[in-house]
Amino acid sequence: MKPYPIRCVSIVIPVYNEEASLPELLRRTAGACQQLGRDYEIILIDDGSRDRSAEILMEAATAPGSRIVAVILNRNYGQHAAIMAGFEECRGDLVITLDADLQNPPEEIPRLVAQAALGYDVVGSVRENRQDSTLRRWPSRLINFAVQRSTGVAMSDYGCMLRAYRNTIVKAMLACPERSTFIPILANSFARHTSEIPVGHAEREHGESKYDFLRLINLMFDLVTCMTTTPLRLLSLIGGGMALLGFCFGALLIFLRMVFGAAWAGDGVFVLFAVLFMFTGVQLVGMGLLGEYLGRVYNDVRARPRFFVERILRNAPSPLAESPASPPTSATESIRP
Ligand code: UDP
Ligand code: MG
Repeated sequence: MKPYPIRCVSIVIPVYNEEASLPELLRRTAGACQQLGRDYEIILIDDGSRDRSAEILMEAATAPGSRIVAVILNRNYGQHAAIMAGFEECRGDLVITLDADLQNPPEEIPRLVAQAALGYDVVGSVRENRQDSTLRRWPSRLINFAVQRSTGVAMSDYGCMLRAYRNTIVKAMLACPERSTFIPILANSFARHTSEIPVGHAEREHGESKYDFLRLINLMFDLVTCMTTTPLRLLSLIGGGMALLGFCFGALLIFLRMVFGAAWAGDGVFVLFAVLFMFTGVQLVGMGLLGEYLGRVYNDVRARPRFFVERILRNAPSPLAESPASPPTSATESIRP
């Protein structure tokens, strides 16, 4: 593994109704970036917030000498789509993702950069003393377990978005046209050397988690379908086994009926009902799973844009410019279709 020279670092932060956290987030992130001794840019994506988040971002991006890039999406597309929109604007050699709610302390950024500079393609992080409710923690545990079992990628905390990606990995991710993505796993599928460092985790101070139970379930399906089709294969295996069992059971019932007579069979009706329900349940679970894949295939076939950028405000001089001391250009505003 060769050390990786990092000249410029891009920070990508998705923002959805986080107006209360934004001022502190901007201040602390900029503070952490200044300690890097490298060029940097902070890309904040407003994911269709209904509060003042977008205005705050635009103000911050247009301030003189600002290193902040504001990407404003026209509506809410979800955390991972928003991060992808941020990736498209990245110019750094290393890209770091972070949550806007300050649960991931921005002060950890220099440690991630130092680890990535050793030559890792992806640097993940493990939350020490995780500060989330038990209800929020259990689904994540289930997700981590499922990912580890089916991908074999040795990372222990997929839920923590405080992560560093080399720009080649980001390019590879952008080349994936699928709509339903789970970025940490997608990144790992392109990475050769990965590493994890322990990071602090704070309680959410403002607002609430943007993931309710239904969104978490959707995220879990995104995660499973993005990494593997094993459940589909498992489905046919389990289905086959069940059918065989059902056949044997039916044969046994006929045999017992012949031995003990029709009256006995009448009593067994309820057992049959139970069996029927069991099989129907399994079938429905299987069909639901099929539906999840089909729904995603349908979305990909339709190939709608993953997001729709309303405007981008960039004030910082290009981080890769020859002289970083060049005077900042005036704010540019690009409105894309
Ligand atoms: N987020 C987003 N779009 C969404 C939901 C969330 O951009 O539709 C952002 C949110 O602003 C935050 C990050 O994604 O910066 C993580 O969200 P949250 O803290 O609610 O998730 P949790 O910490 O509960 O996993
Ligand atoms: Mg959070």
